[in-house]
Amino acid sequence: MTPAGTSILVGIAASPGIAIGRCWSVDRRRVRTPKRRLGPDEVDDELQRFKTALEVSDLQLAEVKEKVERKDGTAEHTAIIDMHRMMLRDEMLVLEAQRLVRDERLNAEWAVKRAIRKIKSAFHEQADEYFKERRADVDFVGERIIKNLLGQAPDVDELPPEGAIIVAHDLSPADTALLLHERKVAAFVTDAGAKTSHTAIVARALEVPAVVGVGKITSLVERGDWIVVDGSRGVVVINPTPGERGDYEAAQKRYRAVEEELLRTRDLPARTQDDVTVRVAGNIEFVEEVPSLLSHGGEAIGLYRTEFLFLGRPDLPSEEEHYQNYKRVLEALGPRPVTIRTFDLGGDKLPAGMRVPAENPALGLRAIRYCLRQPDLFKAQLRALLRASVHGNLKIMFPMISGVAELRAARRMLDEARAELAREGVKMKEEIPVGIMIELPSAAMISDRLARECDFFSIGTNDLIQYTIGIDRQNKDVAYLYKPLHLAVLRMLDIICSAARTAGIPVSMCGEMAGEPVNALVLVGLGVSELSMNGPSIPLVKRVVRAARAADGRALVARLLALTTADDIEREVRVEMSRRFPGLLGEDAVLGPVPG
Ligand code: PEP
Ligand code: MG
Repeated sequence: MTPAGTSILVGIAASPGIAIGRCWSVDRRRVRTPKRRLGPDEVDDELQRFKTALEVSDLQLAEVKEKVERKDGTAEHTAIIDMHRMMLRDEMLVLEAQRLVRDERLNAEWAVKRAIRKIKSAFHEQADEYFKERRADVDFVGERIIKNLLGQAPDVDELPPEGAIIVAHDLSPADTALLLHERKVAAFVTDAGAKTSHTAIVARALEVPAVVGVGKITSLVERGDWIVVDGSRGVVVINPTPGERGDYEAAQKRYRAVEEELLRTRDLPARTQDDVTVRVAGNIEFVEEVPSLLSHGGEAIGLYRTEFLFLGRPDLPSEEEHYQNYKRVLEALGPRPVTIRTFDLGGDKLPAGMRVPAENPALGLRAIRYCLRQPDLFKAQLRALLRASVHGNLKIMFPMISGVAELRAARRMLDEARAELAREGVKMKEEIPVGIMIELPSAAMISDRLARECDFFSIGTNDLIQYTIGIDRQNKDVAYLYKPLHLAVLRMLDIICSAARTAGIPVSMCGEMAGEPVNALVLVGLGVSELSMNGPSIPLVKRVVRAARAADGRALVARLLALTTADDIEREVRVEMSRRFPGLLGEDAVLGPVPG
């Protein structure tokens, strides 16, 4: 046991909820790679060893996948394992390792290590969290092959008791899937990881509390220690005092009660007291997130970030892969609308092996600019979308539109794709709404003109705020300036919503601002007709909308537009919300402030 005494650690809140349980630390220490030069007559045997290790690795992953599917009854959580199996066949790995064994006479373990390093450098040391995680995937695959070469067990071999809290430096997706499906674990805590790490994504999809990026927890705990995991606020308490434990048990009860209570009404429409209906939809990055979205009362998909299809893999998705993926999402949603955003690649999100020179990636060849520069890539996606349109209620959305010319160019590509498919005799839906993200100040300022040439808007506040206030959305040093209620942002939202209203088109919001219950009344007052967010935020936002009056929202917006500083505006909103909806303002109200 660790020495008595409580420690409180703060990491990244990766999956909400509170868990209290005993620590089950998983040793994921890096395997040591033996290095030696081969004699000329050893090369063939070494190539055979490598081939066998690849085959064994593939069999192990197939087994993990089967176990997960058997337990779960669906293939929902196995996509990451499939991705790892694909990596085992990747030429950059296999051919390069074979070359190193043959030409440089490296032993297989060393050759795998070198090939893995080369693949990782194709992700060219991006600082972005997402890329860090994809590099981790490549490492997990390399480690599995090396462990198999050494005859070691690559997977978590011992299973934890039910209700354990898994603590690890990092977990491979295979570990996470096994642990979650074989045992009902209570929570995850990892030293490494980010919001986009697979542990975080799988934990969110399965609604298991998780805190990642804690930094040093593995050196502070041992199996059997009591731990509290507060995944809503990113807090981990090691060896809580009886008083602290009691407090968290009470908070857990409140949290569950609030959740259960909210879930009871999740399927009620978000209609205000004065009969304005707002559609509450979900944002997804992976098909696997659909069940959680629906179980939280999501009425649509307001944003499917399809660029995630391109990331973390050595090759590009084919038109058929795009098609199968969109078909799956559309069928899962049935008649409910599914807004699929064409890929927002470029900037910090580049597929392996592709480079776009840019001093400032956020202002570079990104999203629609990149698509228009890569017509083949874009066309494959557009064709797949049109083909998939017969399977559900599809809406197509273009990201980062800066002006009307760009919208027209994108629409021309879509028309070309449609004409090609029509010539090939492929069935498509006749009417597919085509909309745009409004996430650049230029688009906001000419939204009246843009509204005449598209069927809907979706406001991407994450980028709109970044570009309006001029702050890098990933830079923690300027995060204090990231203010959704800055007067400039509020004025732009007002301009966009008025333009949409005049043109008679719907306006959605899919940036993070949409999922913050405290903003719901303001957004209803502005006239936003759809709010799209993470699944778990849906029930509370719906509840706030149902308790609100749109007329009060409009009056509030008018008052806010007369104020000046973001602090004053925020205060006014908080005061109004606490007065109108005491106790409804989410986890803060239930749990209190983050300690420390
Ligand atoms: C946004 O910018 O608000 C948005 C939803 O897009 P993303 O976060 O994918 O850039
Ligand atoms: Mg954006």
